[in-house]
Amino acid sequence: MKTLVLVKPDAFGKGHTGDILKRYEDEGFKIVAAKVMQMTEKIAAKHYVEHIGRPYYEELVKFMTGAPLMAVVLSGENVISRVREINGATNPEKAAEGTIRKLYAENGSKNAVHASDSPESAAREIPIFFSATEIFEE
Ligand code: ADP
Ligand code: MG
Repeated sequence: MKTLVLVKPDAFGKGHTGDILKRYEDEGFKIVAAKVMQMTEKIAAKHYVEHIGRPYYEELVKFMTGAPLMAVVLSGENVISRVREINGATNPEKAAEGTIRKLYAENGSKNAVHASDSPESAAREIPIFFSATEIFEE
């Protein structure tokens, strides 16, 4: 099983990428793809298609396209739900103690990380960022 993680521009810019990826590795998940990149508006519209038209959408795209981020594919058992738990709630005020968002998120928009929320989302999102030849299965 695989999931897409984005270390968003806030956390990437502040140098938290190593600490964040270590959390996933310590839980036994394997990094099978990774790249530093800057999202274009086109990629943002694809990735966040279900959010187009929501009141926060423009702010979200400005944030996500404004600076580089790191895109990662993680592999492991129950990786989709486990990584969502490790990341914590979307709004850091509601995120549980010890979660990545509790530790590193600034607010409910600049919230440090993205992770796919279902197998269908992972299957849709991963190819937006990686071609098959960039993903290294064990
Ligand atoms: P998650 O990233 O936890 O899956 P959503 O899919 O609901 O959360 O939203 C996608 C992203 O859009 C969030 O991570 C956050 O950056 C932004 N976002 C969501 N809701 C809001 C909001 N009410 N205000 C500002 N930004 C938001
Ligand atoms: Mg989501």
